Amino acid sequence: MICSDHHSSCFVRVVLDVPLDAHFDYCWVKHAAQDVMPTVGQLVRVPFGKRNMTGLVIAVSETTDVPTDRMREVASQCPVPPLPQEWMDLCHFAATYYHRPLGEVAIPCLPKPLRAEKVPTLDRAYAALEKEQSAMVREASATVRPELNPDQEESVQAIGRASGFAPLLLHGVTGSGKTEVYLRAAEEILARHEEATVMILVPEISLTPQLEERIRSRFPGICMAILHSRMSEGERLKNWLSAHTGNARILLGTRMAVMASTPRLDMIIVDEEHDPSYRQQEGLRYSARDLAVWRAWQLRVPVVLGSATPSLESWHHTLSGQYCRRVLPVRAVPDAVLPDVRLVDISRDKGQAGFSLYLLQAIRLRLERGQQSLLFINRRGYAPVLVCDSCGWVSACARCSAYMVFHKAQDRLRCHHCGLERFIPHACPDCGNMDIKPLGRGTQRMEESLQALFPSSRILRIDADSTRRKGSLQSALDQVHRGQIDILVGTQMIAKGHDFRNLTLVGVVSPDNALFSHDYRASERLFAQLMQVGGRAGRRAQENGSEVIIQTRYPHHPLFQAVLSHNYEAFAGRLLAERQESGLPPFIHQALLCAEARKLDDALAFLQSAAAYGKTCDGLIMNEPVPMALVRISNRERAQLLVESASRSTLQAFLKDWTIHLRHTKTKVRWHLEVDPLSI
Ligand code: ADP
Ligand code: ZN
Ligand code: ZN
Repeated sequence: MICSDHHSSCFVRVVLDVPLDAHFDYCWVKHAAQDVMPTVGQLVRVPFGKRNMTGLVIAVSETTDVPTDRMREVASQCPVPPLPQEWMDLCHFAATYYHRPLGEVAIPCLPKPLRAEKVPTLDRAYAALEKEQSAMVREASATVRPELNPDQEESVQAIGRASGFAPLLLHGVTGSGKTEVYLRAAEEILARHEEATVMILVPEISLTPQLEERIRSRFPGICMAILHSRMSEGERLKNWLSAHTGNARILLGTRMAVMASTPRLDMIIVDEEHDPSYRQQEGLRYSARDLAVWRAWQLRVPVVLGSATPSLESWHHTLSGQYCRRVLPVRAVPDAVLPDVRLVDISRDKGQAGFSLYLLQAIRLRLERGQQSLLFINRRGYAPVLVCDSCGWVSACARCSAYMVFHKAQDRLRCHHCGLERFIPHACPDCGNMDIKPLGRGTQRMEESLQALFPSSRILRIDADSTRRKGSLQSALDQVHRGQIDILVGTQMIAKGHDFRNLTLVGVVSPDNALFSHDYRASERLFAQLMQVGGRAGRRAQENGSEVIIQTRYPHHPLFQAVLSHNYEAFAGRLLAERQESGLPPFIHQALLCAEARKLDDALAFLQSAAAYGKTCDGLIMNEPVPMALVRISNRERAQLLVESASRSTLQAFLKDWTIHLRHTKTKVRWHLEVDPLSI
């Protein structure tokens, strides 16, 4: 079909958020004088089936293969400027690399209102933006910045000197002033051009307010867009537009922010680059860190990856010379030093209620001195399981191959995998025994024991349960900062990034589980976690004499020995050697095909036939399908198939054929592919 008048009509080719690797042609007709011809990158509303959907225009032409009688018309154009070509290329790369349809990658990156059945006029969002900006200009007044130490100075210069694509790993111990380096480098870049734009990615939303404040006060008069998933749709739209229109020159956000549209980008910073939360676990399973590096490569701009415990991937890249490395070996605040780490053997010092006598004494000392303590345990709830001593009953979830966690305050058992809730049985459901007991300890139980041990101290628990209400995390953290808390109990939520001024003791209560995990990355993660949480202590000079106490049954384990000496390099070197020996990433490239079905056998059979497809492929290691470690969630049984290759391009070429083949396979099994999986 050919359009009749190319001044008033054309065909557009669009992609939609549908699970089909296809594009769709529509005709566009000029109806009113103010209608403008669509362009590539434009968002349009088009009929699909019985409803209208938002489509992204990937081509505009005067001809199409679609016959006239099947041709439908573009319903309307979305009132936003077209997405830039670089952004389209980014989506295209992500779609190709992670083997997903382009529409499924691109469209979900847009704020919901632009995808809604009725796209709103954007007047309100634009008005809010304008108001914000004029308020900002009025408030403008810069804060003082500390004088950089020589290591920081050199790092800032190295970033500034870089031209073109230049990944730099900023390896700095906790509190070494990495953030200060980011800010100074950003300052330099922003000063170079009046439209220069910088993107800063952070792993956790709980960390953004503190950083946001710091950036705002440092860059008065410069508009900043905040991008994360826990904001209202209106807020999100406003911030997205601010980035998209080039209004914002600093983009700060969590992993999703890496997909933000912006007319230009001059530098990307990824803080805590090793953090697993950069990995999206559903939909498009991408690594925001990796996409950030790709984006920097695409635009030929510097990218800074910062961490106290770099990922082995990035570390490996510095060893091979692909990334340049800068080190900040000491704490930035003059005279502040890293805390002493002490390992307490809990097979000797049994103490009480899960706390060694040594740790209890250390807490007591902090209370006397009016200093704060932080106790870290990576398990929320009261106890991970209820058990009956007389018959062996355990509180298993009916829908998952997991235990239901005892939540005492709500008097409920709760499954952390599927969300199922049950009342606490008064007696054992199997044998009637009245005496069923909580086994093990979670944050709630620790909080309770501490309150009994130190009745006059002010104890606060911070975990996913205590911070469900919007704003509750922030107000809890404020309480700690104001010194209204003596003992802080929490999960990894409090382990990262926070700068608690009066904190001089960190207790790690029971880290041993991670030493024996089936997941080969568990020790890398534990090490990072221990360094991070330990890094919360002694961030001020007057607090020297601060301590990190790790309770373990394995004080001689090399991982703890590396933590003891704050020696990341030795630890990373050993892990890399192990990985090389056993053929694990980063020495091999992996993809994981995951399948789930009502019956495990169906999932396994699907994977068997998928495996057969790749058996004869050169340079590819096709492993056997296996049930997942957590085999059942919400009554669906799960299995996985690992494919590996020493060559990334061999693996990618295979995955391309494979996913096409699998998409055409008729099956009731639900499956997805994970490229560069974080855990196998
Ligand atoms: P990191 O990001 O490495 O944890 P930060 O940049 O947050 O470190 O710095 C830790 C603390 O040290 C902050 O309180 C910061 O204000 C302070 N700081 C950073 N650089 C300097 C410096 N050059 N001189 C004095 N204090 C500094
Ligand atoms: Zn029983
Ligand atoms: Zn469950």
